[in-house]
Amino acid sequence: MGGEAFRRSGLARAYGGRMDDSSALARLDRRVADCRACPRLVEWREEVARTKRAAFADWTYWGRPVPGFGPADARLAIIGLAPAAHGGNRTGRMFTGDRSGDVLYQALYDVGLASQPTSVSADDGLELYGVRVTAPVHCAPPANKPTPGERDTCRPWLVQELKLLRPALKAAVVLGAFGWQAALPAFTEAGWTVPRPRPAFAHGIRVPLDGLELFGCFHVSQRNTFTGRLTPRMLREVLRTAADAAGLP
Ligand code: SF4
Repeated sequence: MGGEAFRRSGLARAYGGRMDDSSALARLDRRVADCRACPRLVEWREEVARTKRAAFADWTYWGRPVPGFGPADARLAIIGLAPAAHGGNRTGRMFTGDRSGDVLYQALYDVGLASQPTSVSADDGLELYGVRVTAPVHCAPPANKPTPGERDTCRPWLVQELKLLRPALKAAVVLGAFGWQAALPAFTEAGWTVPRPRPAFAHGIRVPLDGLELFGCFHVSQRNTFTGRLTPRMLREVLRTAADAAGLP
């Protein structure tokens, strides 16, 4: 879909006008959604969008890079790894339409950071309060595993996003060790001072950067939530602590 066709589409409207917005972050989101820099991921995201999962046969999959979701003046960022093939790659919104997202958005709602406990489609009316959800890789990768090269190719998008968020951003929660490895260099490139050697990922770790509190949290993957490695309570505790650090009510 070209830019003009996209702006007329239902998904553009679903973004609540944000994708028509001329703000710098909205412009960045539109550029992200048009990116084709990783041949393997372009092929995969579009093939998944064509073949679909039987349960979603009546969906028109997004099949493109998934931009970050949440306001430009967010005080708290939540950073995953990459969209899921039948989640964000289907719905066009980060963590939306899969079990990982069900867990994350329920917890955000429980701690007062989201307008509703579910996130099922880009036009479901969900609003985040002071929170921006994003990822260091914007396209769904096969087996949920981007290559190091794809991770590095996508990093400039996160760097630009963090630079735009920086004036208001006070805290960030990074989900999982892979996301942690990918996100820390982006924080450095966006202007924060990250300790050297870089701190290792751990659930509950809190690392003060200059003017930003960085938190680690186990990823909300099905494997972690089904096995109880990450419980809803553990997730709420990290999110609430990070929201307090960010000055969010
Ligand atoms: S993963 Fe990132 S850099 Fe690669 S095609 Fe998608 S948006 Fe572009």
